[in-house]
Amino acid sequence: MSERLVSVAVPLPVQDAFTYRVGVELPTPAAGCRVLVPFGAQRVVGMCLGPAAADDVPPKLKSVMEVVDEQPLVARPLLDLAAWLAEHYLAPPGECYRLIAPPAGGRRGAALADVDAGFRVDRVARLLDATVATRGAAQREALARLEAAGGRARVADLARDRPAIRGALEALATRGAVALEDERAVRTPASLPALPERERPALTGEQSAALAALHSAQDAGGFRPFLLHGVTGSGKTEVYLRGVERALELGRGALLLVPEIALTPLLVRAAQARFGDLVAVQHSELSAGERHDQWWRIREGAARVVVGARSAVFAPVRELGLVVVDEEHEAAYKQEESPRYHGRDVAVMRARLEGAVALLGSATPALESWHNALLGKYERLSLRRRIGSFGLPRVEIVDRREAMRGGDNPILTMPLREALQARLDRGEQSLLLLNRRGWATSLLCRECGEPLGCPRCSVALTLHERGALARCHYCGHDVRAPDACAACKGVYLRLTGFGTERVTEAVQAALPKARVGRLDRDTAQRRGAVAKLLHDFEQGALDILVGTQMLAKGHDFPRVTLVGVVDADVGLGLPDFRAAERTFELLTQVAGRAGRAELAGEVILQSHRPDHYALRLACDQDYEAFWERESEFRRTMGWPPFASLVNVVVRSRDPEAGRREAGALAEALRVAAQRRFRVLGPGAAPLARIKDEHRFQVVLRGPRKAMREALRSALVKRHGPVRWPGIVVDVDALSVL
Ligand code: ADP
Ligand code: ZN
Repeated sequence: MSERLVSVAVPLPVQDAFTYRVGVELPTPAAGCRVLVPFGAQRVVGMCLGPAAADDVPPKLKSVMEVVDEQPLVARPLLDLAAWLAEHYLAPPGECYRLIAPPAGGRRGAALADVDAGFRVDRVARLLDATVATRGAAQREALARLEAAGGRARVADLARDRPAIRGALEALATRGAVALEDERAVRTPASLPALPERERPALTGEQSAALAALHSAQDAGGFRPFLLHGVTGSGKTEVYLRGVERALELGRGALLLVPEIALTPLLVRAAQARFGDLVAVQHSELSAGERHDQWWRIREGAARVVVGARSAVFAPVRELGLVVVDEEHEAAYKQEESPRYHGRDVAVMRARLEGAVALLGSATPALESWHNALLGKYERLSLRRRIGSFGLPRVEIVDRREAMRGGDNPILTMPLREALQARLDRGEQSLLLLNRRGWATSLLCRECGEPLGCPRCSVALTLHERGALARCHYCGHDVRAPDACAACKGVYLRLTGFGTERVTEAVQAALPKARVGRLDRDTAQRRGAVAKLLHDFEQGALDILVGTQMLAKGHDFPRVTLVGVVDADVGLGLPDFRAAERTFELLTQVAGRAGRAELAGEVILQSHRPDHYALRLACDQDYEAFWERESEFRRTMGWPPFASLVNVVVRSRDPEAGRREAGALAEALRVAAQRRFRVLGPGAAPLARIKDEHRFQVVLRGPRKAMREALRSALVKRHGPVRWPGIVVDVDALSVL
């Protein structure tokens, strides 16, 4: 008998799938079934990828120990998606397959005993008629065992010590003595309830036009990607919801991805109001048990609409018909740990593999997406007008240099203070953005000029709690602010720069009657804190909300008529090729929070660089003009979207070893490049040290496929296929910082 070999992805950071033998006592696991396998000294639950080729089989091949699922747990499109992920991002396959498997809840590489029985898809035998005549000893034994087990048992249990029982049960099933069932599959999916007839707004002309195109693609079936460019407050959400409705009418499911679920309570509520129990919301605050139940509810078809952040793109929605990516430009869609995927790009690939429609929406599309639309890869839909009667808000730029020369308050200039006061008098609300948290940016020694730095990272510490506490935003290191400079022992220390904590205090001082809240990573730490803040603000329990970019995320507060930006230049100074794009996005988005309903909106930007094009064009909310200007720069310099970017970072406690490794890689890549792509570096990374690890960087720019292949072979040549210690590969890196 020829050997049965299967390929298995193990949930470990190894670069390849591995081949295992399947012993005669086990059924052949299909692709998408989990299997328990030995790996080194461990036992791990891996994902079977299907039969393995019989050539090149090492002599000492290990065997599968147990087949966990007798029926595939994961459908073909998701298996293909995981394979694509591993290939595209040069990521360990096991880590990619883990994303599509049911949530483990337990430890890494848990053994079978730790696998929750609820995760299994079991083949179960049920006794129908014990009087049917049996043929042969195995059949007799099979019936006897089944009776002894009370008339119902897992096939795997019945056949454990006697593989022939398996075939005997099959034969008995054809003769009506037993029934064989997939335990999970026997539960019938909830049938589609009639959609609740909730009040829905009458569509605007622009919404109708966009939906006509979307619906016709949905009706036709098959993959079609759309980019919905709609100015802030133009009613994109309604387009998403009607798209989901149509998917359900067509008997298909839908995915609705948002950058951060806690920041989009209104969208979640709208989806729940309209689709009721058909909605599953993937919160990061779900417990392991809830997560597990939800996964099964989705897989069984009881939940047909999934709303969640980037990892929801892997939810096992059946018959997926529509994938929506809201605020598709958001950096939050990029996962910054392995596998380093971009949720938007994965969403489009998933739609392709499922034969579904993809809908990416934004007021400020990523330049990559706009470029794809211009190339004809995405179809463009536009909403050019705001819903409310006042149109887009009026924007004024206050030159902070002049204000400060005139002795004005450096945090809140006179025009901003007056505007805030006017809102307070009228019972309206304001948002105040500063994209920098903490009290002060650094503690500077006046004698030697050195800022207080982190002992483990090459960055300055940020001051919190009125300057009493110094904290590293990279490693979390915390110290009481010292009285003397660590470098020169000087005692004249000065706080420089300011963050959201300080702004909150300044607002309180200037407007003692105002009720002020703060929204940033620090106040969001506590469970449920974000929901409470947003709720309080929505209910009018707060007048002013101060915060970081978390304020800019798609909120729809009808009583906000003023948006102030304390320092519009925060992101412009970064040595990042996306600095202008990020600034334009942030300012356009936050400005878009003002005047969204029946009250006119006003925006005040305080800036040292009032003439910068990112600011000017954000004032006009003119995305296309920004694209013209920015794409020129990107094209000339060879940055995305006109080239792909791969960032390779070598991390090492030993700086010499790190430098050597980065040097050798760069060398090998230069040889392989043959002018097809550019190799920059090696050099120290802009963050040269984090948590005592030194970081060296090699940046590749050019066509993705050639770079990826060269990098893969360089890494395999140096380290073999198993582990690449300390080497971070970021394909389609968002930045090289
Ligand atoms: P966007 O996501 O494009 O910024 P939203 O989807 O939040 O905008 O819509 C802005 C506001 O307009 C919301 O309060 C929404 O309820 C409302 N709205 C959307 N479509 C309509 C419509 N057709 N008629 C009336 N109001 C609408
Ligand atoms: Zn640190």
